[in-house]
Amino acid sequence: MKMPFITKEQAEEIAGKYPTPFHIYDEKGIRDNMRRVREAFAWNPGFREYFAVKAEPNPAIMQVLMDEGAGFDCSSLTELMLAHAVGDGREEIMFSSNETPAEEYVYADRIGAVINLDDFTHIKYLNNALPKLPETLSLRYNPGGVFTLSNGIMDNPGDAKYGMTKEQLIEGYRLLREQGVKRFGVHAFLASNTVTNEYYPQLAGELFDLAVEVKEKAGVALSFINLSGGVGIPYQPDQEGNDILAIGAGVKKKFEEILVPAGLSDVAIYAEMGRFMTGPYGALVTRAIHEKHIYKEYIGVDACAVNLMRPAMYGAYHHVTVLGKENAPADHVYDVVGSLCENNDKFAIDRKLPQVETGDLIYIHDTGAHGFSMGYSYNGKLKSAELLLHEDGSVEQIRRAETPMDYFSTFDSLPVYKKLADIAAHL
Ligand SMILES: *Cc1c(COP(=O)(O)O)cnc(C)c1O
Repeated sequence: MKMPFITKEQAEEIAGKYPTPFHIYDEKGIRDNMRRVREAFAWNPGFREYFAVKAEPNPAIMQVLMDEGAGFDCSSLTELMLAHAVGDGREEIMFSSNETPAEEYVYADRIGAVINLDDFTHIKYLNNALPKLPETLSLRYNPGGVFTLSNGIMDNPGDAKYGMTKEQLIEGYRLLREQGVKRFGVHAFLASNTVTNEYYPQLAGELFDLAVEVKEKAGVALSFINLSGGVGIPYQPDQEGNDILAIGAGVKKKFEEILVPAGLSDVAIYAEMGRFMTGPYGALVTRAIHEKHIYKEYIGVDACAVNLMRPAMYGAYHHVTVLGKENAPADHVYDVVGSLCENNDKFAIDRKLPQVETGDLIYIHDTGAHGFSMGYSYNGKLKSAELLLHEDGSVEQIRRAETPMDYFSTFDSLPVYKKLADIAAHL
């Protein structure tokens, strides 16, 4: 059974101070998980997890992860700025972007981020963007075809816009070495949200074989191999989660089979996990404010897809708990819906739940990654607050809720902005 990390009593107390809806994050869960990740890869002295900032771009959460030894993986100017500000000069940053504007490469280079080039043509583009190439560069690989694991999980790299072919990659290392680059890495992201201990080891095996080939054909010994993201979490209550210690051991086995005999035992393993690092340690807490009985039974809540887009965007499953009714029989069937004028604004469809009454607090699980951050502002809806539950049980607001004036703030050169400010002041 999936259990919330806060009780109904805690949630009511928090809601008394910070009105619903809000996202709340469990600091202890994040720290303990990051420690397990480091333990899983402790056999590799160069190992580093670069937290994928897009999963949860909040400085307080980033700080917790950095305290535990994480670097940051960024893919845009604002993510780079955040990582640099949080790190205060001590940060380690990977810039795994795509379709990148020249100014972003310039800024990434200026703050010492490692640039991971998505395409062969970006070598020329980078040469034009920077006065001098950095000493370290990474290239992103796409093997094409279909990526399959024995449990059937599959993704389709051949259809993905990311990365370059093997021939381009090998030619790229040759070219960059001629142009004075000294340290090289490779990166690949071949399947998303894999709930199996097999994904990283299989990916690592492919990249280790590639590293041996790169050494033979381009004469370049890679310094790091970046397994990127894709390690998933069990959104469904009957799924068994990944065992990161088993994943680390699986990668180690491939390392010893392939890299060590090839004389490449100094290679550092990097990861860029996002979902696995924060996903289970965040929740969206919202209140049931309406019930509706037509052709189906509906519960209307005060959050909407603006606060959590994954169900609307990909039909993603998020488990729902009615707080205080954790042990009550799930003998009702509801659609739990938000307020957007979009019929896909449904957090749950035909979901078996205990009877929901207006006023109940609804806890939507696993929103700690790609939850708040994926939000948008359709229908003029405002983003919620984000709260951090500390290990001592205290709660800190780490992002305030938006106000109407935040929504209007980019109109500021228009006379109507003043009227809006006046209206907002007298609401
Ligand atoms: C999204 C992304 C990640 C993180 O992926 P998760 O599935 O959240 O672990 C890492 N690296 C890159 C380049 C990404 O685009």
